[in-house]
Amino acid sequence: MKQNFGDNVSVATITEPEAAPAEEEKAEKADHNEFEFHLLPRDIKAHLDRFVIKQEEAKKVLAIAVCDHYNHANYLRRLEKEDPGRAQEVEYIKQNVILVGPTGVGKTYLIKHIADLIKVPFVKADATKFSETGYVGGDVEDLVRELVHKADGDVNLAQFGIIYIDEIDKIASAGNLIGRDVSGRGVQTTLLKLMEETEVPVRSMNDLQAQLQAAFEFQRRGKAKRDTINTRHILFVVSGAFEKLKEQVARRVRHGQIGFSAQPVEVMDNDLFQHVTTKDFIEYGFEPEFIGRLPVRVVCEDLDAKDLFDIMKFSEGSLLRQYERAFRAYGIEISFEDEALRLLAQTAAMEKTGARGLLTVFEKLFRDYKFHLAGSGLSQLRVSATLVREPQRVLEQLMAEGHKLETQMLEAGAREFADEFSKKHGLEIVFDESAIRRLVERAQAERMTMGDLCAHLFKDYQFGLSLIKKNTGRTEFVLNAAAIDAPDKFLSELVVQSYYPAAPAQNA
Ligand code: ADP
Repeated sequence: MKQNFGDNVSVATITEPEAAPAEEEKAEKADHNEFEFHLLPRDIKAHLDRFVIKQEEAKKVLAIAVCDHYNHANYLRRLEKEDPGRAQEVEYIKQNVILVGPTGVGKTYLIKHIADLIKVPFVKADATKFSETGYVGGDVEDLVRELVHKADGDVNLAQFGIIYIDEIDKIASAGNLIGRDVSGRGVQTTLLKLMEETEVPVRSMNDLQAQLQAAFEFQRRGKAKRDTINTRHILFVVSGAFEKLKEQVARRVRHGQIGFSAQPVEVMDNDLFQHVTTKDFIEYGFEPEFIGRLPVRVVCEDLDAKDLFDIMKFSEGSLLRQYERAFRAYGIEISFEDEALRLLAQTAAMEKTGARGLLTVFEKLFRDYKFHLAGSGLSQLRVSATLVREPQRVLEQLMAEGHKLETQMLEAGAREFADEFSKKHGLEIVFDESAIRRLVERAQAERMTMGDLCAHLFKDYQFGLSLIKKNTGRTEFVLNAAAIDAPDKFLSELVVQSYYPAAPAQNA
């Protein structure tokens, strides 16, 4: 072929796509495992309490919805074994959830921890993403396939997974076109199909490699693997900030209630959410069928500075743990005073991005601290209110302190080397003040440990000094700055002198 077409041609041979047989078998075996669910709502709530601060109502409502959902799945599975006919007939409205709330208040965090607890795969996507490609159906189905991927190929487990779709309010604005020719309505219709019950092909029609792999598998084993995922037991959670919903509802509630405060509504809280109806969501721009498939509705409330303080102090997923680990890796033990945490929480709350504000504030505050204190010799960092208020000044102080500490450590290192040398070779070396000063300067400038620097500078000293001992009987040697600057020259001169004991001593 190369003879005919020249060197630039390359011949592609189709080889069997790499599929580790062990992995494949594992997935297939797992496929026959039954997903079991045995938790109570209070178990789920207790688990969430460890991580999620506030959002009490959301935790409760979600815990119940999740239990109902998976208990029903258990029930249907049993019934299918006993009486398949009846199982087909059972009517059930799935407990899909709509979560309303601003950004960074724990919506995703709640669902992720539920999925972790019950050990089902979890997939998150933004509703706005579906409009980008223009091919609505394909994208949405990819979410279901992603569940299989997250479940390590276990299709059975994927069928009990959780799909979380954020920014759902962005595809709601009635009749609006988002993207070129894909309307929010189109996305709603496709999602609706998934939320009810449908079969999604395990391999995307667009994924050539997956198709090839399926063909090879069929060839090899004479049978095709399970090729569709049923969405009946997949739990759907959609969420959004629903900015305009609070005004919409507050207006109505105010009209109906004499004496209701005329203040503009800041946040959607549980009280106001009580008044939200299906009609409100339809007015917001959702199809009635779509919103009808989301019977569980709950709000996640805004977080104030006190909540952010509690998150840092009491959540198991607290950012403080992350910072403790990061500083520990630099040999620094970081600790936080409550007063400092309160100030940080206040600053973070001003960001208006919920708990995400904490990340921003921490990142900004500690960036320079990490940079300058790592490797500075400092081993403790106490984060006080003063540090939060005047980070630059405190950092400079700490750096000076770190420098002092580092110097002390290096000085001790030099004396340790001298001690070791004496013990090992029976020849006592003593660094005078000027030598110690030069050693510290060099160790800092050359970023070497004191042990390494001395070993390098005085690597031949035991031989030269032994010779002097032989010539003169002398066993103690004082080294000065000249010995640090030019160790070989210093030693040679000492050796030469030892042959002429009458000559005036220069170095000793
Ligand atoms: P969103 O509401 O936009 O989905 P997330 O749940 O993704 O926000 O929150 C971002 C991060 O902030 C979480 O990973 C978690 O660390 C922290 N966080 C948010 N809300 C809470 C909360 N109520 N309790 C504890 N941590 C929280």
